[in-house]
Amino acid sequence: MTSNIKLLSMALFLILLLPAALASSDALFQTSTINALMMGDFHGTMSFKELKSHGDFGLGTFNRLDGEMVGLDGKFYQMKSDGHAYPVNDTATTPFAEVAFFKAEDNISLNGMYNLTQMESYLDSKLPTRNIFYAIRIDGTFDYVKTRAPQAQSEPYPTLTEALKTQKIFQFNNTTGTVVGFWYPGYAKDINVPGYHLHFINENRSAGGHLLDIKVSKARVAIDELTELDMALPTDKEFYQADLSGDQQAAVNKAESNPK
Ligand code: ZN
Repeated sequence: MTSNIKLLSMALFLILLLPAALASSDALFQTSTINALMMGDFHGTMSFKELKSHGDFGLGTFNRLDGEMVGLDGKFYQMKSDGHAYPVNDTATTPFAEVAFFKAEDNISLNGMYNLTQMESYLDSKLPTRNIFYAIRIDGTFDYVKTRAPQAQSEPYPTLTEALKTQKIFQFNNTTGTVVGFWYPGYAKDINVPGYHLHFINENRSAGGHLLDIKVSKARVAIDELTELDMALPTDKEFYQADLSGDQQAAVNKAESNPK
């Protein structure tokens, strides 16, 4: 090898490996804020190509609020209101998403009968502290899973509460798959959903959505403790002009939970 080629291959090596080395494995990355999404800022501002550089695991939504997103093992899926899941192109964009490079510190077995509330309080008792962030992965065969996906919206965008009035609900019995999600501490309530935010995708990656309810008797839970938060805020006029000063807590709780 000539020294030029040696230098070139060394430079290439560094270019390829540096981003992976710089991204901390304990960092949580999110784009935009839950309050902006609540206000109806559904403009996709970050490409999935860029989002993937911040994590191989995550959840979120799409430009125009066109369905629910799951990122799992480096692959990203769009679960639309037609009930199907589709692979996501790098050129697709998201108005709101959160990702991490998933590496479990804690592994827990679920044995017994749990609905969503019971499962969440059981997991609560296992979290080492309520002051950091967590990525949570649950693999198993579930007796019952209930999900939703919103319909794509048109401009001028309504609030999230308004948009979810036409959400589609899906129910699965005896389904094998994975729950993908995060737990945010209460002090993060203006930037994301405090507590658990979980999405589901089935084993053959053909269906799923935002998790509304579950019945689980046996599953494996992996928890990734995240101690860094990296936020990327949109620079478009919709975000700059949005009034994010209001308390959206009640509306967020209603939007994320099982409709009564
Ligand atoms: Zn969701």
